Amino acid sequence: MSSIFTKIIEREIPADIEYEDEDVIVIHDIAPQAKHHLLIIPKKEIATLDDIDETNEYILRHMFEVARTITRKKGISQGYKAQFNVGKDGGQEVMHLHLHILSDI
Ligand code: 5GP
Repeated sequence: MSSIFTKIIEREIPADIEYEDEDVIVIHDIAPQAKHHLLIIPKKEIATLDDIDETNEYILRHMFEVARTITRKKGISQGYKAQFNVGKDGGQEVMHLHLHILSDI
């Protein structure tokens, strides 16, 4: 079964999309925990940070490159939190890798 984020990537359900390229999509969180709350999501459905290995680790570098680009574009690059929740016990609700970007600037 597709994750909710795959459904967004495939335009099956709507989202406020900030950025998209071949490998990632960036959306605004539906329940923001800060003034700016973005989710950087790989298009490939990797469940958690714990599922990163040598075959897919390139995506982490790309996610952080996109974080730099997006935070500069939005004028929040001087202050934000970048967070992965890992696994249910780590507070992860959606089992499709995503990097939270939170800023109150
Ligand atoms: P997690 O707890 O898995 O680290 O974070 C999942 C995040 O996805 C939460 O902050 C939640 O608000 C957000 N979220 C869940 N469903 C949707 C959705 O359908 N659309 C958007 N834009 N965000 C969602």
